[in-house]
Amino acid sequence: MPKQFETRAIHAGQPSDPRNGALMTPVYFNSTYEQDAPGSPRGGYEYSRTSNPTRTALEENLAALENGRFGLCFASGLAATMAIASRLKPGDHVVAANDLYGGTYRLFTKIFAPYGIDFTFVDARDARGVEAALRDETRYLFLETPTNPLLSIVDIELCAGLAKRRGILTVVDNTFATPYLQRPLELGADLVMHSMTKYLGGHSDAVGGVIVVNDEELRSELAFYQNAAGGQLGPMDSFLFLRGTKTLAVRMDRHCENAMHIAQKLESDPRVERIHYPGLTSHAGHATAKRQMSAFGGMISFELAGGVEAAERFSCATRIFALAESLGGVESLLEVPAIMTHASIPAEERRKAGLADGLVRLSVGIEHIDDLMEDIGQALDASAPAKVR
Ligand SMILES: *Cc1c(COP(=O)(O)O)cnc(C)c1O
Repeated sequence: MPKQFETRAIHAGQPSDPRNGALMTPVYFNSTYEQDAPGSPRGGYEYSRTSNPTRTALEENLAALENGRFGLCFASGLAATMAIASRLKPGDHVVAANDLYGGTYRLFTKIFAPYGIDFTFVDARDARGVEAALRDETRYLFLETPTNPLLSIVDIELCAGLAKRRGILTVVDNTFATPYLQRPLELGADLVMHSMTKYLGGHSDAVGGVIVVNDEELRSELAFYQNAAGGQLGPMDSFLFLRGTKTLAVRMDRHCENAMHIAQKLESDPRVERIHYPGLTSHAGHATAKRQMSAFGGMISFELAGGVEAAERFSCATRIFALAESLGGVESLLEVPAIMTHASIPAEERRKAGLADGLVRLSVGIEHIDDLMEDIGQALDASAPAKVR
């Protein structure tokens, strides 16, 4: 296995085809596989819900990127989280960060809570608060860092250590950072999951999720759910994600560089009331981010002094940043979480977590920085009320 991330991203899990030398992993569009005798599949494959060679290549590739042993790919990030949560039984308890992806919160509170699984949402930046929430019945500590959309930083090593001492598994949603910038398994986490839909795919053209683990028993339990519940990733999508991970490193370098420029511009603008970007020294989690990440990512969120109205004007005025949900593609996007991605979280919960109604979230793409800066500048001008302008 090559040592360097960039090389692994291109080669791990993807040897050329031994029969014809084809360099790229084929898209294996087949559901079934011929057996030599009953129960003896020729190449280890029986049925494509259970496993498929294109998906295997991707699973090996992603495990190598997270520096883990096993990858399991699912039809979406939420299907991956669903598989993780499916290991729980009635009476079990989960401590989760209170600033999670909105869909994760919805999955926990609307689908799993009614089955008798108890969730406590805490501000995971406060390790003492995390520790106080852990109980005898706690099975998972579920973290996300940087968080969505406030870009809060959770100290993975510290929190995973608290959980480990009590035999609790730590799960980290590593979607925002990607394994190029942060590898939670190396910091003590037990499970890493991603929405591959975002940076791993990188081109806003496929939906998928992955879990990476080191423990063999955990892998086989999750593989059981992947097969028994059927939320696995299809071969064409697996191919698209394999293509995406090859350029992850170069894309992330540009995402990070562009985001830093834009964050600095926003921070120095008097029309911006509050900005969240872990790369800024003013960010509360900057020191931790610097320790556990190699750079600070492409996501920024901010509040305008003009509140919700200014946010709406700003988000309708950009010309390059497209107003859309999702993130992590090569193209720049923006959204207003309280109205769009996080609308499923009750207003009271949102405010408790510090998510202002007028917060704007940017997914900074890899376009030329001059064009992006100009776009942000003109949208800031347009965000002022008409009479002041
Ligand atoms: C998008 C996202 C998810 C959910 O993933 P899907 O692929 O949309 O199901 C989970 N966590 C984070 C941080 C996300 O951004």
